[in-house]
Amino acid sequence: MERKRILITGAAGFLGSHLCDRFVQEGFHVIGMDNLLTGSLRNIEHLFPLENFEFYFHDVTKFVHVPGKLDYILHFASPASPIDYLQKPIQTLKVGSLGTHNLLGLAKEKKARILVASTSEVYGDPEVHPQPEEYWGHVNPVGPRGVYDEAKRFMESITMAYHNFHGVETRIVRIFNTYGPRMRLNDGRALPAFMTQALTGQDLTVFGDGSQTRSFCYVSDLVEGIYRLLFSDYHLPMNIGNPDEISLLDFAKEILELTGSKQKIVFKPLPTDDPKQRRPDITKARTILGWEPKVSRREGLRLTLEYFKKHIDELHSPQNT
Ligand code: NAD
Repeated sequence: MERKRILITGAAGFLGSHLCDRFVQEGFHVIGMDNLLTGSLRNIEHLFPLENFEFYFHDVTKFVHVPGKLDYILHFASPASPIDYLQKPIQTLKVGSLGTHNLLGLAKEKKARILVASTSEVYGDPEVHPQPEEYWGHVNPVGPRGVYDEAKRFMESITMAYHNFHGVETRIVRIFNTYGPRMRLNDGRALPAFMTQALTGQDLTVFGDGSQTRSFCYVSDLVEGIYRLLFSDYHLPMNIGNPDEISLLDFAKEILELTGSKQKIVFKPLPTDDPKQRRPDITKARTILGWEPKVSRREGLRLTLEYFKKHIDELHSPQNT
């Protein structure tokens, strides 16, 4: 039987590479696309020998052409960590706007179903807790994080417009903080920062007083949620994340315990517009997709720590600085 063909943008990144693995395993022909802005070919090199995987080095803000038929598109290309999008603000805005436009155009041309990767950042610093999909958000468009948050908000708007105006089959996933192997060790997010600090004998840096909360979802749970959403018939935005909320101070303590590190916790000023709390309301994912996270934080952190231990020596290699 002919394989279904799927294009995955951001394929060399953390989430994109795990999605490539899943769709390859499911027997799809996977076309990975990436310009390596924040990703690495090392995340997907194990797929290169397979006959049902191919890779295009391409910037999706430029016209996107893929020969042959295409059944599905997953648009995951975008800098995703605050360090990355603060260093690359224009690329971040362009990939969320022009990139999404190009991929929606491709979906329309190929009559493919497209799923776009939105984010809990569309809720900004939320005044509603936990955050259901109906909440419109609290974002500062001209603050430093606005380049990411507003790019994703535009992405959602143009995706809905292509659905309503052109009848393109669209899906929108709002991803909450996700972690796991292949996160970049120095991407600046709390988990990689705490783990690398603990593993390299530095004190753990907590911003503010550490009372701000996050909810961390293990990558295999997220991939399962995305897989189910793609094949559902639900076209409105859907939260996928783990509602198990923890303060960053307690999280830092958990990492110290897990790594057996004797380092201290030190406090630094809170960055501008840092959200005070984050926790997904996953009622829709539970009822519509029959999905909920399965991997506990303890187990997920153990698996992630194994990866970090293996890769800690690469932290200061030129590629990672
Ligand atoms: P990542 O940085 O590891 O991966 C993003 C990939 O996109 C990289 O490989 C990068 O090189 C590629 N890319 C960036 N601009 C591109 C362009 N113009 N053309 C082609 N490729 C380009 O980040 P990630 O954590 O894997 O995030 C993937 C997607 O999921 C992003 O869209 C992000 O906004 C979204 N997301 C992630 C999280 C999370 O917790 N990781 C949370 C919410 C949303």
